[in-house]
Amino acid sequence: MTTNKLLCPKCNGEMAQGFVPDYYSHGATRVGGWHAGHPKKSFWSRTKAPSREGIPIAAFRCEKCGFTEFYSDAKFAAQ
Ligand SMILES: [Zn+2]
Repeated sequence: MTTNKLLCPKCNGEMAQGFVPDYYSHGATRVGGWHAGHPKKSFWSRTKAPSREGIPIAAFRCEKCGFTEFYSDAKFAAQ
């Protein structure tokens, strides 16, 4: 999925869409998500972050200077 071309707020270069993978178990991967509030510790998983509560994050990276900006929206979930 792509969105309209974004321009870098630092240098006006083109921002390329990407994502930050979340490696959670035995090589399984999901799209990193935004979670409300301060992270809470969990004995079993180290940090409580139920995947159903996360909003998928897209990372837009400037191809010129490397500046990276995050947006979270349901539309950024794996397709
Ligand atoms: Zn830039």
